[in-house]
Amino acid sequence: MKLNYKVIHTEKQTKARLGKIIFTDKDGTTQTYETPMFMPVGTQATVKTLSPEQVKATHPGIILANTYHLWLRPTPEVIKEAGGLHEFMNWHGPILTDSGGYQVFSLAKNKKKDITEEGVHFKSEIDGRPLFLTPEKSIQIQNMLDSDIAMSFDECPPATADYAYLKNSIERTLRWAERGKKVHNNPQQNLFGIVQGGPYEDLRKFSAIKTVEMDFDGYAIGGVANDDESKDDMYKAVEFSTPYLPNDKVRYLMGVGEPVDLLESVIRGVDIFDCVSPTRLARHGNALVTGVRSTSQGPKENRLNLKNARFKHDFTPIGTTCDCYTCQNYTRAYLHHLMRCGEAFGATLLSIHNIRFLIHFCEQMREAIREDRLLEFRDEFLKN
Ligand SMILES: [Zn+2]
Repeated sequence: MKLNYKVIHTEKQTKARLGKIIFTDKDGTTQTYETPMFMPVGTQATVKTLSPEQVKATHPGIILANTYHLWLRPTPEVIKEAGGLHEFMNWHGPILTDSGGYQVFSLAKNKKKDITEEGVHFKSEIDGRPLFLTPEKSIQIQNMLDSDIAMSFDECPPATADYAYLKNSIERTLRWAERGKKVHNNPQQNLFGIVQGGPYEDLRKFSAIKTVEMDFDGYAIGGVANDDESKDDMYKAVEFSTPYLPNDKVRYLMGVGEPVDLLESVIRGVDIFDCVSPTRLARHGNALVTGVRSTSQGPKENRLNLKNARFKHDFTPIGTTCDCYTCQNYTRAYLHHLMRCGEAFGATLLSIHNIRFLIHFCEQMREAIREDRLLEFRDEFLKN
């Protein structure tokens, strides 16, 4: 489905955008979704522990799937044979695939030797066989998967990379973006470019301007979801990128899913987000709840660990104002019991809640943008 992005309203006090993404199918039918939007991640062509119906009930827009994983298993050939990713996984809403870059960079053992101008050498996590991913190969795989949005193959430098490394890296990423764009061959698929450059203003500016010159269907801000990166650097990376991105194209911050980071990035002009955190937290018994906890690195998302003994006799829902299936039907005591027994249904129920929590959070931000009170919304949020 080809996409169009339109800004409905720019918030008066910030750069936050209320927008809509309109997807148009071959037969002319459209699907429209508002931004800011949180996109649940379905790494292996499934949002872990959830059926498509359960995902749908959380009111998502786009969902993600991972090129690296699907390349190795079941292979793009099998997915093509199935009629594409939508048919294969029974998901008829929009799907975004990543480039595989993030995974292969972390798998490249000898960074100097394995990361070359041509592409990245690494070993398969499944059987150890040597593999090679190039910008062309990444796009060809995504063309075969037939996702709605494909991502350019970019170099993902570590958070510790210095200025000189990042400078070379953004230039290589631009060359790779060009190579990928040349072989992109799926008229129904949108291709996004990725802005890199760490926390440096001049590098982000250069990367953004040059990437926009190549004219992609949307733009992502990459290199921010490193565990060892400070929040300050993340916000800088966003702040230094968005001024150079066109107003009529969607902006995607990759791999970020903490409510406080969503909020700070929306304020700086980002529209869409993805993160594995809601389902990963769920599998470990954690539920997202409103408010923040303070840490040495600044405010962090608030969570309840349902495995904790204090929930054994707690017959209230996770969130008293949450409209998700889990909170409408189950108590903390029941979830505590399921998680203590290692029952898969516990992870399902917590995943439903956590995904809905982030999607609802985006709905609240949209309302606040519409009413020009996003900073007040932030104050309220941080106070809790
Ligand atoms: Zn809930």
